[in-house]
Amino acid sequence: MNRPIAGTVQVAVRHILSDRTTGFLTRTRRITWRDHFFRVRRPQSGKHTVELACPQCDASLLAEVRDEARTRRTATVLLVLAAVCVPLFFAAFGYVIHEGSKTLPEGQSLPTLFPVSVVSIFVTFVAAPVLFSRGRRYNSVSMLDAPKPRRIHQIVPVRG
Ligand SMILES: [Zn+2]
Repeated sequence: MNRPIAGTVQVAVRHILSDRTTGFLTRTRRITWRDHFFRVRRPQSGKHTVELACPQCDASLLAEVRDEARTRRTATVLLVLAAVCVPLFFAAFGYVIHEGSKTLPEGQSLPTLFPVSVVSIFVTFVAAPVLFSRGRRYNSVSMLDAPKPRRIHQIVPVRG
């Protein structure tokens, strides 16, 4: 059990062992990795940089960590944006059905809002689940710019 400890956050340093894409028409991407767990201390306020050494290959990775209040705010914003996408999706969808089923008088084109709504349907359909999962997993730990040996690494959130 990973009990959350105040002022810290648990992350995994993911060392990518291999990343291969095979196949021609049906491409399959096969990624293998190994995770190593770390507990990172959050700053009292603002952000700070911590160094994590990958036990797999000794590469040192720099991660940026933000304070708890800021992290919670960003996660909330992401979830709110995800929630806003849902009624937007249905409103745009309803509008497109409504306008699309009308028979237009000769020479009259669909209102500008029509293509805008069609685009909104696609955008919100993709964005809502992405924002939702980002918001739930957001821990404000991000890997800083990584030179070559670090490129085979990711820092992933661990749900405590
Ligand atoms: Zn490594």
